[in-house]
Amino acid sequence: MSRVDVIIAGGGLGGLFTGALLAHNGLTVTVLEKNAIPGGGLQSFSRDGVMYDTGMHVMGGWRQGGTLDKITRYLGIRDKLEIVEINDDCMDQVTSLADAVTYKIPAGREAFIDALAQYFPNEREGLEQYVAAIERIADSFDLYNLRPYSHSASFEMLPEAIIPADELIARYINDARLRSLLAYNNGLYNGEAGRTPAYVHALISVLYMKGASRFVGNSVQLARALTEVIAANGGSVLCGREVTAIEVDGSRNVTVMKCSDGERYTASKFVWAAHPAELLRVIPDGVFTKAYKRRVAGVKPTCSAFSLFIEFLPHSFPYIDHTCYIHDDMVDAWSLQSVDAEGIPRGFMYMTPPQQRQDGYAKTMLVTALMDFDLVERWADRRDNVYYDWKRHVADGIISKIECCYPGFKDCIKTVYTASPLTIRDYYHAPRGSVYGFSKDCNNLLESQLPIVTKSPNLFLTGQCVNLHGICGVPLTAITTAEAILYLRTILSDIASI
Ligand SMILES: Cc1cc2nc3c(=O)[nH]c(=O)nc-3n(C[C@H](O)[C@H](O)[C@H](O)COP(=O)(O)OP(=O)(O)OC[C@H]3O[C@@H](n4cnc5c(N)ncnc54)[C@H](O)[C@@H]3O)c2cc1C
Repeated sequence: MSRVDVIIAGGGLGGLFTGALLAHNGLTVTVLEKNAIPGGGLQSFSRDGVMYDTGMHVMGGWRQGGTLDKITRYLGIRDKLEIVEINDDCMDQVTSLADAVTYKIPAGREAFIDALAQYFPNEREGLEQYVAAIERIADSFDLYNLRPYSHSASFEMLPEAIIPADELIARYINDARLRSLLAYNNGLYNGEAGRTPAYVHALISVLYMKGASRFVGNSVQLARALTEVIAANGGSVLCGREVTAIEVDGSRNVTVMKCSDGERYTASKFVWAAHPAELLRVIPDGVFTKAYKRRVAGVKPTCSAFSLFIEFLPHSFPYIDHTCYIHDDMVDAWSLQSVDAEGIPRGFMYMTPPQQRQDGYAKTMLVTALMDFDLVERWADRRDNVYYDWKRHVADGIISKIECCYPGFKDCIKTVYTASPLTIRDYYHAPRGSVYGFSKDCNNLLESQLPIVTKSPNLFLTGQCVNLHGICGVPLTAITTAEAILYLRTILSDIASI
């Protein structure tokens, strides 16, 4: 039985950032990851010698002075990471198939307003007010702005931050089509009309308005760099180690995390960095109250996703230096996870990753469509041939929609691999294949937030279910978790001062 300062269960974005922050501050950390490769949402995989990223395709916060830029500088790994800026003149291209219109959305506050005002000239004033409102909301979040904050104050925020996101947009914008267009990227947070709080929409929209970035050379490079920080202080990231049981003492302190390989790991403090439902599966009854368990089981998960990993024939399809969105009809922007009469997603995003591109041509394309788990429920326990036929049908349908934008697209394809909500469920151990953790509901804000401290005095939480998801949310929660473990309130301010 090995003993280190801290054991972290889950080697995804949250577990690795927390581990690296603790190691950087002098603790020896062991991360236990069930998959063969660390990274969770940062993992990349290879098929036929071609690398693909699983779930980190477009990111905010990496421009100079951005949160991720600062956190990785603090950890001393920023210069090791190969990251490219997405074209600011057109960071996103949004196509509405129903009316055959493509909108090009630039980064930068003024450029964003100007571009949309050109499409909707009567709405310039509303656009200016809308952008001011989302900036006001984003500015009111201390942690998001790397300002010291108190947990209890997190909902003492601007009243307009906690109304539904669609209502916030409608306050400033009259044109129904522009209202929907402003929600074009809600696939990045699974926004739902009447439910998703305006702050979720505002934080993500403002982040991307400041400029988006992508990894060059795959997302797993960040997982590797964080692993090196952990190793530099004597720690390690152990893969193929699924935590299958937890032992506690009479004071509910965790004493041991037991893994699938039969090994037992002990430390003075423990962090759970996977889905909280997975924690409740492996921890003895009685550590958490029935009310807590009911709450975790009862929070609606964000929906799942269907992904296509496409390899092109050499020199056949152009490299696109921005992210593309296709919607059947722009007015459906708030129900992206729904499917059309043929069962094909009504909206999705796609991009050609910068790595392996050749002379202006793309080597691969990644497509992500939000999808409800209900569509694969019948195969939850067993995948049969009907399942594989269904996957092909969905992939063909998505490809046909891209063909509407790029005639001849189909002829450029060499191979297509697909991942369904079942893949995501099994890969992350996320209930119902949820992509972004708990779904946030402005009618019950506290329901979808968990404190980082638990009923077990030496067990802490981190990861996307605690607070915000994605590259802009999970590393921030990691700071909070690391500060709580270290009894140190200076990590955030040290990062902010960089
Ligand atoms: C398809 C897809 C596309 C996405 N695209 C983007 C994007 O473009 N930009 C963005 O910012 N965000 C994106 N996200 C969201 C982002 O990936 C997540 O918010 C982030 O990875 C969550 O981090 P986490 O540490 O909470 O969970 P994860 O990264 O899922 O890490 C949890 C880890 O715990 C491990 N684990 C689970 N159970 C156990 C156990 N019992 N024992 C040991 N280990 C265990 C899992 O294997 C996993 O590695 C995407 C997500 C998906 C699914």
